[in-house]
Amino acid sequence: MALTPMMEQYMELKEKYKDYVLFFRLGDFYEMFFDDAKTAARELELVLTGRDCGLKERAPMCGIPYHAAGSYIGRLINKGYKIAICEQLEDPALAKGLVKRGIIKLITPGTYTDSTFLEENKNNYIMCLYIDEKNNSALCFADISTGEFDCTDTPFNLSAILDEISKYNPSEILVQENISTSSLNKIKEIFNGSVTKLDEGYFSKEGEEILKKQFTNFDPEDYKPETVICCSSLLKYIRETQKTNFSHINELHYYNVVDYLLIDSNSRRNLEITENLRENKKRGSLLWVIDRTNTAMGGRKLRKWLEQPLMDRNKIIERLDSVEELSTNISYHEDLRESLKDIYDIERLVGKISSKSVNARELNSLKNSIEKIPDIKSILSNFKTPLLKNMYENLDELKDIWSLINRAILNNPSISLKEGNLIKKGYNSKIDELREIKTHGKDWIASLEKQERDVTKIKSLKIGYNKVFGYYIEVTKSNLGMVPEGRYIRKQTLSNSERYITPELKEMEDKILGAEDKLISLEYNTFIDVRNTIEKEIHRMQTSAEIIAQVDCLSSLAKIAVENNYCKPDITLSDKISIEEGRHPIVEKMMPAGEFISNNTDMDTSENQLLLITGPNMAGKSTYMRQVALIVIMAQIGSFVPAKSASISICDRVFTRIGASDDLSSGKSTFMVEMWEVSNILKNATNRSLLLLDEVGRGTSTYDGLSIAWAVIEYICKNNKLKSKTLFATHYHELTKLEGMIDGVKNYCVSVKKVDNNIVFLRKIIRGGADQSYGIEVAKLAGLPDEVLKRAREILNSLEKSSEPKRGKALKKEKNTKSSRQLGFSDVEKESLVKEIQNIDILNMTPMDGFNKLYDIIKRAKSI
Ligand code: ATP
Repeated sequence: MALTPMMEQYMELKEKYKDYVLFFRLGDFYEMFFDDAKTAARELELVLTGRDCGLKERAPMCGIPYHAAGSYIGRLINKGYKIAICEQLEDPALAKGLVKRGIIKLITPGTYTDSTFLEENKNNYIMCLYIDEKNNSALCFADISTGEFDCTDTPFNLSAILDEISKYNPSEILVQENISTSSLNKIKEIFNGSVTKLDEGYFSKEGEEILKKQFTNFDPEDYKPETVICCSSLLKYIRETQKTNFSHINELHYYNVVDYLLIDSNSRRNLEITENLRENKKRGSLLWVIDRTNTAMGGRKLRKWLEQPLMDRNKIIERLDSVEELSTNISYHEDLRESLKDIYDIERLVGKISSKSVNARELNSLKNSIEKIPDIKSILSNFKTPLLKNMYENLDELKDIWSLINRAILNNPSISLKEGNLIKKGYNSKIDELREIKTHGKDWIASLEKQERDVTKIKSLKIGYNKVFGYYIEVTKSNLGMVPEGRYIRKQTLSNSERYITPELKEMEDKILGAEDKLISLEYNTFIDVRNTIEKEIHRMQTSAEIIAQVDCLSSLAKIAVENNYCKPDITLSDKISIEEGRHPIVEKMMPAGEFISNNTDMDTSENQLLLITGPNMAGKSTYMRQVALIVIMAQIGSFVPAKSASISICDRVFTRIGASDDLSSGKSTFMVEMWEVSNILKNATNRSLLLLDEVGRGTSTYDGLSIAWAVIEYICKNNKLKSKTLFATHYHELTKLEGMIDGVKNYCVSVKKVDNNIVFLRKIIRGGADQSYGIEVAKLAGLPDEVLKRAREILNSLEKSSEPKRGKALKKEKNTKSSRQLGFSDVEKESLVKEIQNIDILNMTPMDGFNKLYDIIKRAKSI
């Protein structure tokens, strides 16, 4: 048995697009067959049927009506599938034999642009990674729905690449076919979207020409070869899948990773920058707190600002000054926010114009949005700060585009472009005429009849119609003598009448009979002309959209500054972070107003380099540490911050080692992950970095953990390459002895009060180490059974009564740790002191250095 011809056609296409679910157009349906049908039936809850395909068994089949395809496509894409759309390429009524079919579009998670399914406040990026033979690598990111195209390059460094992936959070990543398995696995550990391997043909060297054609601002001199190859590969993929050239992707934006505050993927998650930790939702994240934007463009831009905080002091100050000006000019600011509310997503509308999928209603949305620009411009004229002034000066009101749409497009046009009802009266005389004919054709015939009767004085003259001759003038035989010479052309003679035509009548007949079809096609063509004219101005619209997005972001920051009682931070080039009465922006929002307890912070790279924070569980250590990082990040995006006053030195990176981030799926234990993160921090931090280390070492036995924590502290404070400002929370109270021993370490604790057997959290960070752990009291709060609590107290009492070495023994019994680990804390210190003395190179010291060293040794010996 052989496949039917249509099934053969299907199989041929499917062979080429194996990785795609093939939507095969059959009449008014898209049908799916075989495994695709099973997948679609399962994922989209469709009924699985079968169809004779020429083989013994019927082919599994399921289908969806073509006009409702959008929602099914959206659902499949969101589940990570790729879809190939196969259309009938000729009219089935006219086709001889099998209808020609072909793939008109490939839809993948990263190239998907249907705004009904995309989150409006989030870009939908597709990314490409290219690594050349010399291990130079380049990355680029495009959002086809908005036209954004960013690129960067680095010597191959997987951790930097992973950071960029987590920053952009693309929905699809393109990689070379021969990418190493270990790199691919690492990418897949942090990225669960679609990874597409492209064959080497994509990464060819002729990229320069492609980029020159696509980007108005591309100069080959400015880019490394690997970047050119990377960007051109992505463009090729976009073209091949979308089968079109996009005019809105017209500017290549190069960025240097080091120009922005780097927040590695871990810290991004832990600090809940754009998503909360628990459900990966925006609620409960920093973005949730600061996003009061009124436009989708502003929403996306603010997310981007937050993902890429600035490091250039002037740029930060420019933003802060504008936020200040907006927040202090409440009346203008409120007017501005009102005007922004009515602005649609110009960027994505422009994307639709470029992909030629815009409809007339969307052009009206564009018009209505443009209509608001003059208001925004006029409000902006009142502001003096350079950024807002600059925006005012560069904001193009796009009046010509507004006027074109206003003249051309009906106020309430059809959604479909193929049904007419698109173009306004007065825009195109031919359309007006056709519409007139369509609606008044009969009146016109009647008036012609009357006119001819008047001229010929033949009262019985009438205009008739039949399918063979069309419209005709009929005169009865008795009146033929009254017909003026040469007025009519004879067409047909009947037994008692003659039928005539006139050129005018035939012309009108053509018009009346074809009016409907002609009208539809002329309206369509006129719409396309209007769209093409607007398309030429895409760049201007994008510039205005960009300005509106930025104004919206600044306005959002001004709004939250006033509402949440934030202060304008001082941005300094010193090494100090000083925060007076700082608050955690998210935790404070989750609590009734005024309940959050504020705290001060003073850090630098010398005396207050590492703040060692002790205190009971639940006291607020993590909250405090996170609050400092969030305040720094907020300041560096140009936002006011939750504090009474703040002076922030610009940070280059924020690192966190917070909480349990088990990664069991990748075969690593909690402790392993912790150590991996710490090692990454120690390798990459600088003296401009901010480190948040929460309970480093707690994932292993007490003394191993303590020793690691101590060594890490020493390394951070003593190693001149690091000297990073660090917040170090710990339950190892022994570490508080490091203050005075290691320069830069300062002890802080979160205060609590014990009332009877209950603990009261005061949430205030004060100087000094914590006296007790209060672990059992906190466990009581958590509802641990009384029996367990009682027994725990007994054990604790017996441990506390024992001396330090005995405590070691008790631990030995319980934990069965090796005897070599039973050193007390002071033993470790002594050992370290002895080692240091052994290493003193007395012959190469000045007497003064020798004296200082001796002083130092005595001081340390006294503290043991
Ligand atoms: P653990 O050592 O168990 O990790 P912790 O000391 O890090 O605990 P946090 O997780 O920071 O404690 O705080 C516990 C809870 O206390 C927070 O979820 C928050 O509700 C509250 N809290 C923390 N800091 C403050 C504060 N400054 N003002 C008011 N409430 C606070």
